[in-house]
Amino acid sequence: MHLSDISSFFPDHHKPFLVTGPCSAESEEQLLTIASELPKEKVSLFRAGIWKPRTRPGTFEGMGVDALKWLQTVRQEVGFRVTCEVANAEHVEACLKHEIDVLWIGARSTVNPFTVQEIADALRGTQIPVMIKNPVNPDVNLWMGAIERIHAAGIEQIVAIHRGFPGFEKTRYRNEPMWEIPIELNRLLPDSPLLCDPSHICGNRSGLQAVAQKAMDLNFDGLMIETHHEPDKALSDKHQQITPSALAELLNDLILRQTSTDNELFNLTLEELRDQIDKKDNRLLKLFKERMDLVEKIGAYKFDNNITILQPERWNDIITTRIDWAEQIELMPDFILQIFQQIHQESIRKQTEVMNSKSERVES
Ligand code: PEP
Ligand code: MN
Repeated sequence: MHLSDISSFFPDHHKPFLVTGPCSAESEEQLLTIASELPKEKVSLFRAGIWKPRTRPGTFEGMGVDALKWLQTVRQEVGFRVTCEVANAEHVEACLKHEIDVLWIGARSTVNPFTVQEIADALRGTQIPVMIKNPVNPDVNLWMGAIERIHAAGIEQIVAIHRGFPGFEKTRYRNEPMWEIPIELNRLLPDSPLLCDPSHICGNRSGLQAVAQKAMDLNFDGLMIETHHEPDKALSDKHQQITPSALAELLNDLILRQTSTDNELFNLTLEELRDQIDKKDNRLLKLFKERMDLVEKIGAYKFDNNITILQPERWNDIITTRIDWAEQIELMPDFILQIFQQIHQESIRKQTEVMNSKSERVES
């Protein structure tokens, strides 16, 4: 799959590629006020939702097709290129008619292949860039699938947007970032530009800076951040929107690091450290193998003595001792817990395999 990089469709863009503007278009004055207060030279694309996918009915659902004209006014009067969310073929047609520069597909649409296909079919024959948010559930294949559907309709200018994943537990995030998912998408689709949307990840203003910084440190191409001239009065997502001047401050405080350098000393030191990591990983793998060989022996021994694979007290003992040992050497308990859960799962799988093959032999 060939995807264009951002500079092929935004030749004047500089990093970070910045998409900003309100969650929702509320009035023409609101859009013009926000647009005129934004740091003009830093904005790549002005956003505003026209049709709002709301979790519960009875809340503000967007101003609809009339607001497309307001976006046109922002383009004419302030000079920004403009984007809005589309969720069906009718939205796509209205946006094309009003010469919206870029479209985006929201998280609640990416999750549904029928919706994405309907949008893709409506886009066939056009060359409009499309930004695709991650689906609401943490499935990298579903995100890839949406990109593939839009690409198969002939669109090469596709940008992925990471906006996090809702979870059951209340955490400091509205949507858990689960950074491993956009990192995996980037590994599978290295050509696809990748933005981060700290506003929908955080759901509040205080976490934005740290999430935006993390995205830059992970080499994301840009950011989507919601802005409103009076955030507390916003008709949607009021807790997470920031004023244009707060956005300017956030951008000023953002540290942009290079992806590589020609400093020879740095490169040699990095190579040496990576070499040491390679050796440690190799030792780790050998230890995993030795551990798994023991698991195999235990499986056979349990079978011969007619003992169950899982003994909850032993599993509980493993968890508590390993976490205790981890804390003693300053390793994060959560990290160690996750690793041992994976190891234990594999041990059970291995012992089941051993038991099944031994019982087949007994039967035959
Ligand atoms: C939005 O960007 O305002 C929006 C609705 O986003 P998401 O699809 O990420 O919820
Ligand atoms: Mn929003």
